Amino acid sequence: MYLLKRIFLFGKPYKKYFALAICFMAVNALFEGVSIFSIVPFFDKVLTGKTIELTTSVKFPYQDKLNEFLFHLSSLDRMLVFKYLAVFLTSILLIKGIAFYFSRVFMEILGQNMVKDIRCKIFDHVEHLSIDFFSQKKTGELMSRVSADVQMILDIVSSRFATTLIEFPKFLMYALILLIIDWKLILALFFIPIIILPIILIGKKLRSLSRKAQSRLAELNSVLFEVITGIKIVQAFSMEHAELKRFIHENIRYYKTRISAVKLDTLLSPLTEITGISICLCIMVLRIPKIIDGSLSVGTFTLQAAALVAMVKPLKTLGKINSLMQRALGATERIFEILDTKATITEKKNPAHLPFIKNNIVFKNVSFGYEQDNNTKTVLNNIDFEIKKGEIAAFVGPSGAGKTTILNMVPRFYDPQQGKIMIDDTDLKEVSFKSLRRQISIVTQETILFNETVLSNISYGENNVSIKDVQDAAKLANAHEFIKQMPKGYETIIGEKGVKLSGGQKQRLSIARAILKNPAILILDEATSALDSESEKLVQEAINRIMKKRTVLVVAHRLSTILHSDKIFVINQGIIEACGTHSQLLKSNALYQKLYEMQFGTVE
Ligand code: ATP
Repeated sequence: MYLLKRIFLFGKPYKKYFALAICFMAVNALFEGVSIFSIVPFFDKVLTGKTIELTTSVKFPYQDKLNEFLFHLSSLDRMLVFKYLAVFLTSILLIKGIAFYFSRVFMEILGQNMVKDIRCKIFDHVEHLSIDFFSQKKTGELMSRVSADVQMILDIVSSRFATTLIEFPKFLMYALILLIIDWKLILALFFIPIIILPIILIGKKLRSLSRKAQSRLAELNSVLFEVITGIKIVQAFSMEHAELKRFIHENIRYYKTRISAVKLDTLLSPLTEITGISICLCIMVLRIPKIIDGSLSVGTFTLQAAALVAMVKPLKTLGKINSLMQRALGATERIFEILDTKATITEKKNPAHLPFIKNNIVFKNVSFGYEQDNNTKTVLNNIDFEIKKGEIAAFVGPSGAGKTTILNMVPRFYDPQQGKIMIDDTDLKEVSFKSLRRQISIVTQETILFNETVLSNISYGENNVSIKDVQDAAKLANAHEFIKQMPKGYETIIGEKGVKLSGGQKQRLSIARAILKNPAILILDEATSALDSESEKLVQEAINRIMKKRTVLVVAHRLSTILHSDKIFVINQGIIEACGTHSQLLKSNALYQKLYEMQFGTVE
């Protein structure tokens, strides 16, 4: 109930559509009820040629007028009565049809709006989650939750649902008819629990199956996503067949869960129908003697039987609604799991505004570890350093030593578990993300570009920039020449993740973007590692330009790029083993000497 309530809260802005849909459902049910009464004159007059007799156990408003009318109808020719009935039924069906149409349309508007809003809500929420969340969740799985799981909500708020929901007012209408024509027949309602019990039991099982199916669909999407994004490696290692096997495995798992759910779901309808109709037949058998002794007309008997049998359909529908609801709730649980995930890195309430750096960046006894399966793997231990404004600080050390982790803490992608990080004596936890991050630019080995124009990729996040500003940034980044040669210059769409560009070109676009932001602090993480020497030269030139007059934190495996840094920190197993300039470290630190020898063959 709690989950349903949360989902329906998304419908609040669209409640008028729901109200309209319900009104049209009621009109549909009302006219369904009215149409069923035409059975009496049809059987009593048209088929048998007798007097039309509507026997009721409860007097209803205008009953005398109706009886008078039926008496008048009885006196007419059988064929004429049939013609009247035909016109009457056609008009009723028309009104019913119009009401049905609008009830579906309004429910669909409600459902699609809710799903649209939920999608945006998840997107907005996911965008603000901390980086650690993304390292724990698979991209394909996340995408599946935003698309496939949200789509399932339509099962309970769409035109499809309206078609089923419409049976409820009809059920009430039939119950009312039974009450009027013979109130004792209403006792049939006492048998409803027999029909409802399997609906509830099967519904419970369906919910867990739906959850399972959605998570298997997410696994399937994950494989698809991994293979598409890593297609070069898949093909280079001739892993197509192995990946196909992995996909088939996930596909079969998903198929099996879906089939189990369908088997169970399909069982519901015949089960409710058999139980319902059997109960109706038992009740109707008790009425037969009344027809024989003449106290009940064939028309009224048929009306009673029709109303009773018609009540079975809404009950069958109850099963359908329940199974749709359980399926949707299974997916809903997964959606709320995401919406309830809290960002681990948050801004404090009313955070301070951090002015542009004036003095220094300080790490004070910083320790940190990544959470993995409820354990914390320590990666940084008591890191203590100061980088003055305008200095270039390089971090070197063996792979996995913790260099990138240090850099990631400056824009607060991760927070220290102990100690603090300060800019000009202000703890980063005290300031707003915006004021901190607007003064930082990051260039990493993995370039992040969007499937947009060159212009919008360079000016990403900057609103008031002119084309000249963009071009100046591109010139400084050694990118202007190759951009000019592209088919539409700065208006060229660069493809997903910049597939239409070389590694060096992508990197130079990233640098142009960083230059345009005009950051006070620059973070370079292996920015040239993936490039060949020609590209590296152009990129390094661009980097050297952007580094001027900025505070720079750089990680580079190629020591040649950091030899002139003001400070070099040698990081080993999460601690600072040594700090100094290149020449100092070369004399005093064995690890640095080893790294240098590995690249240059000899120590100068
Ligand atoms: P490299 O030079 O190879 O890039 P590095 O010195 O930059 O290495 P980090 O990327 O900081 O090293 O990683 C330090 C340690 O933390 C490694 O053992 C790594 O496996 C681990 N690690 C990094 N990122 C995560 C993460 N998101 N979740 C769990 N562990 C992580």
